[in-house]
Amino acid sequence: MTLEQTLPICIAGEWRLGRGERYATCYPATGEAVAWLNAASVEDVEDAVQGAHQAFLHSGWAQRKPHERASVLYRIAELIRERSEDLAQLQRQDNGKPINETRALVASAAGTFQFFASACETLEETITPSRGDFVSMSVYEPMGVIAAITPWNSPIASEAQKVAPALAAGNAVVIKPAEITPLMALQLARICEDAGLPKGLLSVLPGKGSLLGDALTHHPLVKRVSFTGGTKTGKHIAHIAADKMMPVSLELGGKSPTIVLDDADLDHAVAGVLYGIFSSSGEACIAGSRLFVARALYEPFMARLVVAAAELRVGDPADERTQMGPLISAGHRESVERYVALGLAEGGRLLLGGERPSGGIYDRGYYYPPTILEGLNNGQQVCQEEIFGPVLVVMPFDDEEQLLEQANDSLYALAAGIWTRDYKRAWALGRKIQAGTVWINTYKQFSISTPFGGWRDSGLGREKGRLGILQYMEQKSLYWGMNEQPLAWAGVQREVGL
Ligand code: NDP
Repeated sequence: MTLEQTLPICIAGEWRLGRGERYATCYPATGEAVAWLNAASVEDVEDAVQGAHQAFLHSGWAQRKPHERASVLYRIAELIRERSEDLAQLQRQDNGKPINETRALVASAAGTFQFFASACETLEETITPSRGDFVSMSVYEPMGVIAAITPWNSPIASEAQKVAPALAAGNAVVIKPAEITPLMALQLARICEDAGLPKGLLSVLPGKGSLLGDALTHHPLVKRVSFTGGTKTGKHIAHIAADKMMPVSLELGGKSPTIVLDDADLDHAVAGVLYGIFSSSGEACIAGSRLFVARALYEPFMARLVVAAAELRVGDPADERTQMGPLISAGHRESVERYVALGLAEGGRLLLGGERPSGGIYDRGYYYPPTILEGLNNGQQVCQEEIFGPVLVVMPFDDEEQLLEQANDSLYALAAGIWTRDYKRAWALGRKIQAGTVWINTYKQFSISTPFGGWRDSGLGREKGRLGILQYMEQKSLYWGMNEQPLAWAGVQREVGL
């Protein structure tokens, strides 16, 4: 297929052109088109959901024995691994992340399918304690059509985290990837088809969320929405879900505090803080974007951090040595720049960065350097709002009580990091920090076996973990009567002649 040809999309088991507007996905490092496709239309949403519903009812997928469904998921994992280099290169072009990161995301997607294959095979139903002349059981049923709505920052890994458990549970899935990064979801649909997933069980609808995501969320046949994205969109989806009495899981934004206590191992803390905020160019929900440093350590720590951040290699995502690629789009870079200008207007001082790099490749892509601001307090706007870029705000603290108050003073509560050599201090602080994930002497490490999600404006529900599959199932209680005689109440009725 040449670049000018229009990519087909996958709707209800058919690969065909979308009926929405034609558009190009662009490589953020150069602005050049990677592929052309037609967005899906609202009619395509209808076709995809109806097709998914039919496939759910009639393909026999939900009725297959768990180990039979698992074998398809294992095959999907295998195919992702076999095609991993092509996938990683395509993803690099689709969203501009450095190649080493996209390789890790592809590997994580394969691991996710493998994990949920085994979760599916080993899921247990339980006999619950009986309190009468009966046996009671708890069983789980698939829900039907699941909508998976994903953002642009970590395609394939985000999609796998929703598609793998939803399929493992026996459902059909319709993916709405971010308009600007649709290519990995389409590849995943190819892989699922090649692995033997019944036709129609997985559709992919590229295009605008305000149109397609909204139509999907409202659709009466969609029984659950699993969403990753911004808090504003998440709340909008939650309102629609409330009207439908539909469960949702929402993985939303963050403004995560990283805390360096006065006894921290500085080498580890500097490396961890850098990785926490500047990897993925800060385009990560869990970015450690608010740094609190013990005042006694503030100056020496910041001196080291600034030198190390200045040495980060910002550049061509195809280069194996690159640590930070471009931002996703020109518009997003402008938004990051507005936040830095706001921080300065609020009284902040730049310790590093704050200006677009220029010359050579920098003039073509949407690059922005590691940027560090100090002199702000936690209540200010740049310390409260998610910037989603490589911007770190740094604040010294004097005691742990004041620290905790500020660290927890955020609408968000997604993640946090603590750097200390004292495990008892880490334990006490770790329990008091309000966040879905707390990393101690490490940051941004993930295991598919460990649940992930946020509190407050950072979201609802948990993904990953063995029990992640249950999000995509309805629980049902079965009571089996073991009584020899008819239920007593009916007998009483006969006795009194009713
Ligand atoms: P958005 O909320 O704008 O978009 C996320 C997805 O929702 C996209 O597919 C988007 O489509 C779609 N969407 C937009 N409007 C609607 C709507 N009305 N109804 C249904 N779907 C809609 O977020 P961003 O793309 O800006 O992604 C960045 C955000 O995602 C950040 O806030 C980040 O913190 C969060 N995030 C959270 C993670 C977590 O696990 N907690 C992980 C990664 C990111 P389209 O883009 O095509 O318009």
